[in-house]
Amino acid sequence: MRLSQYFLPTLKENPSEAQIVSHRLMLRAGLVRQQAAGIYAWLPLGLRVLNRIEQIVREEQDAAGAQEVLMPTIQPAELWQQSGRYEDYGKEMLRIEDRHGRAMLYGPTNEEMITTIFKDGAKSYRDLPKNLYHIQWKFRDEVRPRFGVMRGREFLMKDAYSFDVDYEGAVVSYRAMMLAYMRTFQRLGLKAIPMVADTGPIGGDLSHEFIILAETGESEIFYDADFEAVDWVSAGYGYTPDSLAKFYGEMTARYAATSEKHDTKAWAEVPAARQRTGRGIEVGHIFYFGTKYSAPLGLSLAGPDGKPIVPHMGSYGVGVSRLVGAVIEASHDANGIIWPDPVAPFRAAIINLKPGDAATDALCASVAAKIPDHLLDDRDARAGEKFADADLVGLPWQVIAGPRGAAAGRVEVKRRATGERVELSVEDAVARVLG
Ligand code: ATP
Ligand code: MG
Repeated sequence: MRLSQYFLPTLKENPSEAQIVSHRLMLRAGLVRQQAAGIYAWLPLGLRVLNRIEQIVREEQDAAGAQEVLMPTIQPAELWQQSGRYEDYGKEMLRIEDRHGRAMLYGPTNEEMITTIFKDGAKSYRDLPKNLYHIQWKFRDEVRPRFGVMRGREFLMKDAYSFDVDYEGAVVSYRAMMLAYMRTFQRLGLKAIPMVADTGPIGGDLSHEFIILAETGESEIFYDADFEAVDWVSAGYGYTPDSLAKFYGEMTARYAATSEKHDTKAWAEVPAARQRTGRGIEVGHIFYFGTKYSAPLGLSLAGPDGKPIVPHMGSYGVGVSRLVGAVIEASHDANGIIWPDPVAPFRAAIINLKPGDAATDALCASVAAKIPDHLLDDRDARAGEKFADADLVGLPWQVIAGPRGAAAGRVEVKRRATGERVELSVEDAVARVLG
């Protein structure tokens, strides 16, 4: 992609409305633009990141055995009246009336809808277990939308819903989602800690939030530093009940809780030297809530002995759009964003220091042909401006080509994360970037 033709409105100055670094950088690097309080448009570069994160979330849901669906953003109020949540949800729910005077709403979550969809399609216990998920925009009329996409009113969420025969089955589903989440956050380059959490308006009695450490986070957290030493990745847990039980044991053996569920007695048993307190960003939240929705919505299936069973359910959310901000909070420096390779909008910036110079143009073209996932800075601008923009936008690699190197067929390669620069032949540069 040629930068001269790309819609990338970067800002030199820090926008005054942005209080935290990720919000500042998302505006400055031309990723999003606010349309109303807590409502954002995604520009080409931002959308590429959002799509990459969404895809990683999707792959890990699929790997865990969940099946993707897509439910609408608009829901009829009756569904929520049946579950009893229509009144309870309060002012956070955006209520709409259609032209016939029917009460509708913009979905803040989908427990009711998925329960009725499953009820319509499932016949007996043989249809269990199932886990259905979608990745869809939600609306919650937050009292204080802030921090850009971190606490928006309209935001993209992955929400999965599990259906099981009984409590034992539901626990396996719950653990499978916990493993899928740990894998997802790891692939995104984030260190997340599952913490015992409050169930809030979703309800239920088993719940964990996935928190990444950040000073700007809204959650107050308490955890045992021993968690940092847990090497769950190399244990290679799989999705069998036994493996999941071991994994769950490993994840929950040490104290980790958000302030709502903080237990001062249990905390006092953690050796003082290992007590860590601070702030974090909630990037995911999982719940087991039994028959809280299946019972009132009339989801009942024929059991093995013909007697009806009411499936046990759980729901599992990931803040896909919030993750864009969270990744930036975790990975930036004074000059701009540092995208982790798996979510970077492009793999490399190719910086042409002298557009119009035939040899330099040819050098850039030969690099561009071998690195398809690139953004080529072919603008007629000063080198300093190009370097500053490349650092701001934060692609993992920069390949810098100028007339001097062109004569010898050499370019400079810079790794954004370390600032390390090396001069290489085109072939070696390409190998380094793609390697
Ligand atoms: P919070 O405690 O941050 O208000 P929540 O507990 O209400 O979130 P859930 O219902 O658990 O949120 O939603 C699942 C995930 O969706 C959250 O873990 C978070 O990552 C994301 N999310 C929730 N609310 C917002 C929001 N207003 N803007 C962006 N992402 C959000
Ligand atoms: Mg939550």
